[in-house]
Amino acid sequence: MKQSYCANSPADTFFPSDGMGVIVAKEICSNCPVTEPCLEYALYNRIDHGVWGGCSERQRRRILKDRRVSSQPLSVTAA
Ligand code: SF4
Repeated sequence: MKQSYCANSPADTFFPSDGMGVIVAKEICSNCPVTEPCLEYALYNRIDHGVWGGCSERQRRRILKDRRVSSQPLSVTAA
């Protein structure tokens, strides 16, 4: 994305190998003007690796799980 902050950073910054690297990448994302569409792109495409839209791999898994749960129909029980 043209406006993305990561365009000026080495690509491996967003594919960190440790928690400190995740913090650095998330800090860059926190000021990026396209955080929301970036995150949605990663979620829609089920991208497993890296920091996208300010979210780590673990955070994206959690978001997807929460969305699956909230989209399930409510069970109706007969009284
Ligand atoms: S939000 Fe997305 S586009 Fe912006 S810096 Fe982070 S990874 Fe790059």
